[in-house]
Amino acid sequence: MAEFGLIERIRARTHVPRGDVLLGIGDDAALLATRPNEALVVATDTMVAGVHFPHDAAAFDIGWKSLAVNLSDLAAMGAAPSHALLALTLPEADAPFIDAFAEGFGALAREFGVALVGGDTTSGPLAVTVTVLGFVPMGEALRRDAARVGDLVCVTGTLGDAAAALYQWRSELPIMEPLAARWHRPAPRVSIGLALRGIARAAIDVSDGFVADLDHICAQSGVGAEIDADALPSSLALREAVDRIQRRRLQLSGGDDYELCFTIPPGAEHALRARIGDAFTIVGRIVAGERVRVLDRDGHEIVLERGGYEHFS
Ligand code: ADP
Ligand code: MG
Repeated sequence: MAEFGLIERIRARTHVPRGDVLLGIGDDAALLATRPNEALVVATDTMVAGVHFPHDAAAFDIGWKSLAVNLSDLAAMGAAPSHALLALTLPEADAPFIDAFAEGFGALAREFGVALVGGDTTSGPLAVTVTVLGFVPMGEALRRDAARVGDLVCVTGTLGDAAAALYQWRSELPIMEPLAARWHRPAPRVSIGLALRGIARAAIDVSDGFVADLDHICAQSGVGAEIDADALPSSLALREAVDRIQRRRLQLSGGDDYELCFTIPPGAEHALRARIGDAFTIVGRIVAGERVRVLDRDGHEIVLERGGYEHFS
């Protein structure tokens, strides 16, 4: 298959009409209309076969996830996604693979009204780089450096599912389906990110692990955090899949959840409930200091070790 045919297959399966695309795929570059009083928000993420997904991952899932992880970054900024670019490195021009990949990418692009306006296609070991664009009203972006002492620390959805799937896969256990779905086809929290504008102070998406990501907020805001380990939200599937110790480890340090972790001023809980209901859980508090402390129900600190944790007593 020629490169042109390949780009055409992708375009046909990802088409999303948008009035602000003045010129899309096909020229040397795309032309997009910009907006007054809004900041253009830009993020990019690469996924490499064997590093970010297994070599035998389904093409649909690779397409889905390559866009999902990028939309998650926009969600964490409170941005409305609009456009994407796709740089694909492929070992061969395999039509069924391209088609399924584009279907996965396209399914998510349609859900969020994201137009694919360009990209690049080269041959080499399988790797996918997606760049996403979006908009946020000037001054309303949710940044990592805006948490303040006294803020409540919140998280959307549940934690640990994707890491549990990865754990089952590595252990050559059957992967429970709800966990597999969270690992392969994460749902970026775009609408929640939009609802957080004007309420949340700092935000980040949970891609590396809850504590590691909250630690970025703390470092950039010059604060610490105290987290109640028992408050961390978990799915029924996770509780069925692993014991309590393992569950806690996955919730605290497992990656790939793509939930949002954010802080709100004390007292903002009701305003947030009115907007997003039970889509979030309060798990702790921002304190003076410079790191994340996780406490069990007796107030003892849980210290994360490589691959596990211990109690201080
Ligand atoms: P150039 O030689 O100018 O880089 P290309 O042949 O790489 O042009 O791309 C031709 C057009 O197809 C451009 O508009 C480019 O943005 C688009 N394109 C190339 N690869 C992809 C892809 N994987 N997904 C979406 N658009 C692509
Ligand atoms: Mg090119």
